[in-house]
Amino acid sequence: MAIAEFAPDGTLTRANTNYLNLLGYTHEEAIGRPHGSFCLPVFSEGKEYAAFWQALLSGQARSGIVERLRRDGESRWLEATYTPVVDDQGQVVQILKIATDISERLQEERARQQHLQLLSLVANASDSAILISDASPHIEYVNAGFSRMFGWSSEEACGQKPLALLAPDKDEAYSQEYQAALSAGNPVEREVIVQGKNGQRYWAKVISNPIHDHNGRWSLTITILTDITRAKLHEVLQRKALEAMAREQPLAEVLELICLEVERIAPELTVAILEVDEQGRMHPLAAPSMPEEHARRLDGVVIDESGSSSSNPLWDDYSSSLQAHGFIQCWPSTIHNRQGRVIGIFGFYTRHTHGSLSTSLHQGLADACRYLCTLAIEREHTRRRIRQLAFYDALTGLPNRSLLQAKADQAIAIANRNNEQLAVLFIDLDRFKNINDSLGHPAGDELLRQVATRISETVRVSDIAGRQSGDEFVVVLPQCNAESVKETVGRIQNLLSQPMLIAGTSVSISGSVGIAMYPADGRDMETLLHRADMAMYQAKHCGRGNFSFFSNEMNQLAQERLMLETALRKALQEDQLRLHYQPQIELASGQLYGVEALARWTHPELGEISPARFIPLAEECGLVGDLGRWALQEACRQLSEWRTKGLLIPAVSVNLSPSNFHNLDLPRMIADTLQINALTPQDLTLELTESILLDTNPSTMKTIGEVHAQGISLSMDDFGTGYSSLSYLHRLPVSELKLDRSFVADLEHDLTAQALSNAILGIGKNLQLTVVAEGVENETQNLMLRDQGYPIAQGYLFSQPLAPGELETWLARAIGNTAA
Ligand code: C2E
Ligand code: CA
Ligand code: CA
Repeated sequence: MAIAEFAPDGTLTRANTNYLNLLGYTHEEAIGRPHGSFCLPVFSEGKEYAAFWQALLSGQARSGIVERLRRDGESRWLEATYTPVVDDQGQVVQILKIATDISERLQEERARQQHLQLLSLVANASDSAILISDASPHIEYVNAGFSRMFGWSSEEACGQKPLALLAPDKDEAYSQEYQAALSAGNPVEREVIVQGKNGQRYWAKVISNPIHDHNGRWSLTITILTDITRAKLHEVLQRKALEAMAREQPLAEVLELICLEVERIAPELTVAILEVDEQGRMHPLAAPSMPEEHARRLDGVVIDESGSSSSNPLWDDYSSSLQAHGFIQCWPSTIHNRQGRVIGIFGFYTRHTHGSLSTSLHQGLADACRYLCTLAIEREHTRRRIRQLAFYDALTGLPNRSLLQAKADQAIAIANRNNEQLAVLFIDLDRFKNINDSLGHPAGDELLRQVATRISETVRVSDIAGRQSGDEFVVVLPQCNAESVKETVGRIQNLLSQPMLIAGTSVSISGSVGIAMYPADGRDMETLLHRADMAMYQAKHCGRGNFSFFSNEMNQLAQERLMLETALRKALQEDQLRLHYQPQIELASGQLYGVEALARWTHPELGEISPARFIPLAEECGLVGDLGRWALQEACRQLSEWRTKGLLIPAVSVNLSPSNFHNLDLPRMIADTLQINALTPQDLTLELTESILLDTNPSTMKTIGEVHAQGISLSMDDFGTGYSSLSYLHRLPVSELKLDRSFVADLEHDLTAQALSNAILGIGKNLQLTVVAEGVENETQNLMLRDQGYPIAQGYLFSQPLAPGELETWLARAIGNTAA
């Protein structure tokens, strides 16, 4: 303790060592100095000092914290008491001063203060809201983050109960449990939706830590609230929605789940989600908590994509009726796909004024909602595209075969259950190929598209229309009878016959329709389709634009055909076919010019079957390749056999179908056959028909050229009946024309036939082609042809086509005649 005595005039009279050391003076230096010289000049020279000393002299003691100057100029803080000492007369004789140096303590206190200041700076700068409450619990402190997040100033918050303030919807039990955990000394961590001064809501992570005083009593709680709205939305909303998508739940279900989840998180909201189609029309997808009629009213309404933010397509025109339902506002958000097109829109509707709608929670919900809706709708679009590709015809947009089959199966099942009839129509466009060839494929495609549109416009919604292939369409008509089918078919055919504008040209088309009825004609789609197809062929036979019901005769014919096909296959395999040969005569000399090989088939049960029947059948069922090869090899073998026998047969003609020339191997096969049989190319003629000109297969011309190059003659069969333009004769390397037998048949009575046969002979002569007249049956025809100058003739007059043995006999007789 520093002790000093001052005289009433202020001079120092006595001081102990502590005092001297405190102020840095020696005894000699200090004694006699005035009190004021130990003080800071601001104090000692002021009025306050005079008052201070006056008070002492009047007998009043003084104490307090004072600042004093050391000899070296530094200052010291003292806790000092000045006590006046009075004598018997009450006179102040001296002033006693007792002081302790508190400079150190003061400094520490200041440092602590500074530290506290820094701490509160940290607390205030934090984004988290921090509050300190006492054990009662009432708020004692909130940081700036708290005010920023919740809107309450420190004054407003202090003294309030934290839970009542931030989570008023939590009940007493919740708060008790919270307090109980804290009083047990445990920190408490919760994720709760909290609410600010203006109703703004957050999903917050709340951590409370109890603080104990030095007696171990729980005195304070420090609570930190962090906004985890976004993370939480991600966790709750996105997880659920994404899971639903991964489970392939339908779009409407996924979106409904999103609506309900948003409404659960923010009960003040009601959500509606709508799709926006490419025309900008809205279609409700999910609005589980909205009045149904509102969604209905929005359906088909066009939204303004210019995005003028002032208009709200989900509210503006409906505000009064929505208000009647208690809604007071709507916050719309558009949904864009990755290309930036608006593919949807959703609205957050509120019923009560829950403050502003763009709080952090709502913003977060809208963001999450937008993201999830984009995902879900785009996903649905992709799914639709895949479905479209898999189940719809790319050209016409009609269901393809697989979808048609599936839908038809369904319709048949229903018809079966309800005991109803059902019709399957097979529609084939007439002469579509002509249009395709003359106007080009793009025009053909356009025509098919228009036909598809017309067909789907004609039928009822419950009917199923699909594209079968090429120019074939199929329509399934549930719940109908023969009469109503005829009516529908009439409508379709009528609509098809209306001219269409294709590639700038007005085109009229017709369709042939075959009809098969369930259950009379079949009980499954495959049978019905097949039979409708057969009926369609029947209709085609009656001319263009007809229709035909499937009938049992048709079926019988088809059955027969199938049987015949199987039998022909077998006949080819088992070598049951034979060749007959018809002589061709040089008219001038009566000599044999050659023989034509004609196929013959004797069926074990059906007997003789005409080539006019089995050749087209072989063509249709892909047997004509085998048949051609067989005929070539057999004819060559036979000719070679005759040669060995010494018979004079100049050449053999073999008939080939156009598709025989698709085979690039044909020239080599012919060469091999000739070689094996020791024949020369001049021994063989190939007869082909003008239909070869319609053949588009690229191999055909190549094969023909190669065969010709080998030195084999080509003969144009049935000349004059087919192609109208003769210019092809330049391009096809034929060396022989066969005047069709219809000209010969008419020769006697028909001047035109005479003129034509004459003209054809002229053409042949000019082009240096041999002309053979076919089907010469009587002497008159023979003479007329000879007069016209025909070099070669063939027909019953000379001989029927003959079996090899018969030909040998015929030949022997004919040579005998000639010789005679
Ligand atoms: P095509 O090539 O015009 O054959 C001539 C047809 O006329 C033969 O009928 C023949 O029997 C018949 N014919 C001959 N002379 C007379 C006559 O004076 N009056 C009448 N009315 N008819 C006569 P076929 O044998 O029934 O053959 C019919 C058609 O079948 C042939 O017509 C030919 O196009 C085709 N064909 C026959 N064999 C073969 C073959 O091996 N391969 C191919 N691809 N087609 C063949
Ligand atoms: Ca022929
Ligand atoms: Ca012929």
